[in-house]
Amino acid sequence: MHRRLLSAAVALAFAGLPALHADAAPVKTVKAAPEATTQLPRGVAPTHYDISLTPDAAKASFAARAVISVTVAKATDSITLNAADLKFAGASIAPAAGGGAVEATTSVNADAQTATFKFARALAPGMYRLTLDYSGAIGTQAVGLFSLDYPGADGKQQRALFTQFENSDARRMIPSWDEPAYKASFALDVTVPAGQMAVSNMPGKAETLADGRQRVRFAATPKMSTYLLFFGLGDFERAAATVDGVELGVITRRGAIKQAEFALESSKTILKEYNDYFGVRYPLPKLDNVAGPGQSQFFSAMENWGAVFTFEYALLLDPAISTQGDRQNVFVTAAHEMAHQWFGDLVTMRWWDDLWLNEGFASWMEGRMTQKAHPEWNAHLDAVGSRDGAMVRDSTAATHPVVQHIETVEQASQAFDEITYQKGEAVIRMLEAYVGEDAWRNGVRAYMKAHAYGNTVSDDLWKQIEKAAKKPVTAIAHDFTLQPGVPLIRVGEPVCSKGKTTVPLTQAEFSRDRPDKQALAWRVPVIARIAGGKDARTLVAGGKGSVSLPGCGAVIVNAGQSGYYRTLYAPKQFAALAQQFAGLAPIDQIGLLSDSAALGLAGLQPASDVLALAKGAPLGAEPQVWSRIAGVLAGLHVRYEGEPERQRVLDAFAVARLAPVMAQLGWTAREGEAAPVANLRNQLIGTLSDMGDATVIAEARRRYAAMDQDPAAVPGQLRKIVLAVVAEHADAATWDGLRARAKAEKTPLLKSNLYALLGSARDKALAERALQLALTDEPGLTSSATMIGAVAANYPEMAFDFALANQDKMNQRIDATSRSRYYARLAYRSSDPAMVAKLNAYAGAHLAPSARGDVEAAIAAIQDRVKVKAERLPEIDAWLKQNGGR
Ligand SMILES: [Zn+2]
Repeated sequence: MHRRLLSAAVALAFAGLPALHADAAPVKTVKAAPEATTQLPRGVAPTHYDISLTPDAAKASFAARAVISVTVAKATDSITLNAADLKFAGASIAPAAGGGAVEATTSVNADAQTATFKFARALAPGMYRLTLDYSGAIGTQAVGLFSLDYPGADGKQQRALFTQFENSDARRMIPSWDEPAYKASFALDVTVPAGQMAVSNMPGKAETLADGRQRVRFAATPKMSTYLLFFGLGDFERAAATVDGVELGVITRRGAIKQAEFALESSKTILKEYNDYFGVRYPLPKLDNVAGPGQSQFFSAMENWGAVFTFEYALLLDPAISTQGDRQNVFVTAAHEMAHQWFGDLVTMRWWDDLWLNEGFASWMEGRMTQKAHPEWNAHLDAVGSRDGAMVRDSTAATHPVVQHIETVEQASQAFDEITYQKGEAVIRMLEAYVGEDAWRNGVRAYMKAHAYGNTVSDDLWKQIEKAAKKPVTAIAHDFTLQPGVPLIRVGEPVCSKGKTTVPLTQAEFSRDRPDKQALAWRVPVIARIAGGKDARTLVAGGKGSVSLPGCGAVIVNAGQSGYYRTLYAPKQFAALAQQFAGLAPIDQIGLLSDSAALGLAGLQPASDVLALAKGAPLGAEPQVWSRIAGVLAGLHVRYEGEPERQRVLDAFAVARLAPVMAQLGWTAREGEAAPVANLRNQLIGTLSDMGDATVIAEARRRYAAMDQDPAAVPGQLRKIVLAVVAEHADAATWDGLRARAKAEKTPLLKSNLYALLGSARDKALAERALQLALTDEPGLTSSATMIGAVAANYPEMAFDFALANQDKMNQRIDATSRSRYYARLAYRSSDPAMVAKLNAYAGAHLAPSARGDVEAAIAAIQDRVKVKAERLPEIDAWLKQNGGR
């Protein structure tokens, strides 16, 4: 799946909590422990499913028959499989070779999400066909078989159906061994209304029935995990192209197919590259990307084999609203889901413990692919931000190892987090840099070949990489994936002698909330460079190391920023690097900003160091460097919430730095301007608006007022950000105007954007109105949770209290499997110590002890904010007094 990031991601990346570090413990070998990984009784396994499905979209229900070929390995008189919210009408079993069927009595365990079929006599070992007749419900959130409603081109309400089965929701449509290791083939046939398009993993053939309906039979899939099955149905259009013998398709609601052109073009480029990279060609005859209107709080796209599902905002480009950032997101999302067609679909993790194998790898691959196909986007510079996203959590007690043991469905859902995705990605980037691109790719190819159609654990990958690289990569991989936390590399005083510089390095741990924590030990691959010079490499092990470089000068450690660790320089060296900032590679400029921001707020170096960098950054620095500076300042702005006087001083400094950059860019895109420039423009408008910059707010208002008469006043690239500024500073009349626009809007993308904006008003009374509106029928069932999330960005306590007070209504508007995550996320931005007790009370009343990951992460973030405010911000105040102003 492609994670949906919190809108406050930029601010979150700056979260920091004071901590000291302890010295590293001696090296010991961390080993993976094999775990049992099934919740179903062993002894019976499926090999093939024949499923006949008749959905009734209007009644939100379906009827079905599943005929499952099973192998009974050990004599048994019962079979247990997964089923959730299904009603069984009949169950029987017959030998596969022919012979009389035996009826079964059915019992259902709703808590365990299982159904057990008991037979009058024991089944001898052998092959059988289990026939189940049943019915189920079609939901409104992206879980199991669900519907999405939207206004059609003719103004009438339309309903389309889709499925979402990861991680454990195939059982809501098919009684099944719903665990990744139980791979089987699937042959789906569906009886559906004439005139609608039915889509699944494989190509289908339609026949018209006597009653006018159509029956579509899809070819059987290869052996695969249940969570990868897909079915979609609606008034769709499809465009297709053939590449390397595979039919690539995009499918949208009628009328929107032109907006999927870029996604289709991108898929062509990506398929060619992946066929080469993985060394195993894409094995299915076709690969569709199916667009769904609406949204989920938790994901933007899903890698169903041969039939990727993507919410419209991550697949369609509408000239009326789409930005350069959206364009990049369409490419990145497609690259992520297509990487899964191999890493996840062809070769699947054995159990959710190794989910990162899917997600870390796909996240890394999306970045690699994007850089290769679109070097003009400079996307490799975004790697630091992604790494920071993981480190925010990984430097607190609320973290967990990349490989973690999972027991329950809820735990599996919580595993789709920044550690699994971003840390997984960062660790892969580091290991690839350590062994080299060619060795890494050869290892991946060997892994694909060895495990196609099978299941794996992380060590299967390390084994192949190590063989290809002839380097001891497994030990390093274990250090970073089996233990939690962020290494800290302290850079000692460099010694320059005879034209050579030697720098001592020591390894500690970067922990923000456990000052007395004994540091864990990591083997850390380190790359260092003197500005303009060549890379030097070393492996820090046993807590100590050193690196030698040709020449003399200030040394940048973690040059190229592929390492997963924080770098702490002695004050003199930091000053030297700050002085040479303009001459550093852009990625190292971003790395230096990132480390000094985090280490500063943690009390390991002056908190103002990052502001000194911001002050000295040249106007001509890369757009992404300025994007980072804007992100750091926006993060600090949030830390001053509740202190308006002090916040104003910071804002004045920020505006003084950022307004000249904005002036240089201008509001109007220049012909042929670089993509990162367009992204920076939108970010700066947003940040300057947050900082209360009167010039930017007035210009946004002016353009908004003019847009109905003069569409050029708000081109598509600016529409979302201009409306966001207007909504943020709206008065009641403006808010009512935005709501009227939302109500009248027919395009799902624009409509859901407008409703989300209603939640972002700073005016508290308007924020309250947005909360009330969210739970009415007006915004549509998939917009409510986003609106309340938008309110939470300004008023986390109010949004959290409101959502909890209306839990029944809320729960109809959040994906069932991920409910345990939503409430904690609303509270995440709070700086109120009282929120911690509220979160604990909520968790105590509603969550299993094993499902507290998101609550703990939110509590860590709140406690961090409280502590930083008390202990670190005074230093920033003092610096601003001396250096701020205009
Ligand atoms: Zn994914």
